[in-house]
Amino acid sequence: MRAVHRISLITSPEERQAFERIGIDLQGKGYFEIDESDPRWPHAHRMAVEFQMLDLSYAEFTEAERRGATYLMAYGAWEHGYPESFQDGGYERTTYDSTKVCVSCGVGRIQVSPFRISGAPKWGSRSVRMLCCIQDEFFVTPESWENVFKPFGIECREVVFHKTGQAVDNMVQLNITSVARLDVKGLRFNDCPICGHRKYPYDLTGRYYHPMPENTSAPIFKSDIYWGTDAAAWKTIIVSQELYGAAKKAGLKGIGFLPCRAQGINPEDSGKLDRCSVFAPIPLRVLPPRVGEDSLGLNS
Ligand SMILES: [Zn+2]
Repeated sequence: MRAVHRISLITSPEERQAFERIGIDLQGKGYFEIDESDPRWPHAHRMAVEFQMLDLSYAEFTEAERRGATYLMAYGAWEHGYPESFQDGGYERTTYDSTKVCVSCGVGRIQVSPFRISGAPKWGSRSVRMLCCIQDEFFVTPESWENVFKPFGIECREVVFHKTGQAVDNMVQLNITSVARLDVKGLRFNDCPICGHRKYPYDLTGRYYHPMPENTSAPIFKSDIYWGTDAAAWKTIIVSQELYGAAKKAGLKGIGFLPCRAQGINPEDSGKLDRCSVFAPIPLRVLPPRVGEDSLGLNS
């Protein structure tokens, strides 16, 4: 696993010269990336703190690390399209039982109706997507569901057109009904003053691995805990190694995977990672894919 930082918001000549003095060539840009194993990292980090720069960190895993994980957190590497009606938040009322949702922390969404979209999805070479703002549901092509997910006993549910209520024929939602407890020891949390539900900020300081779930026979399931701050609340989606292998074999695009590990990180990693603030997927939305690399997941 590589821990990589993108240091950005470098604007003044003084800041540029400071980085150049430790051997970092900005090449005219306002940011650079650096691996924590780079000998320049301690100096770069100290200056990033001093200059109050934006430091987004992310992890790169090898395929061997992903194949060695019993469970992997699945994240959307392609977020595209909106649930309808999005502008006025109407999908909250039509898709979920809104009477159960806490207005303060957002916990309590129970889906009671299909998601609605405005037009037929275009997939290109991808076969998995998330809808914008819906972070705990995957939408896939019917062929992908049939070939990859259905053999594991995973059901799907229809998605409908907003205006007509007719079923969309080239997109279905994975019906993820199982839940498993996570090892959240050491994670910070907040309890809602209104409903009392607990949420964990998506800021797993010093952790690049997703927390380990308890053993379960389900091939795909959600975390028992909610993540998020303010009114945002979502669950992470986790898959078994077997389902990951099937997704990999099928070459699914639009989805990525991070290994799960008990208590997040190994003790020997904690020293070098203790200043990292973000592990995923937030930086994945900020950083464009590199040349020849679609995501941290299947196509690397
Ligand atoms: Zn609440």
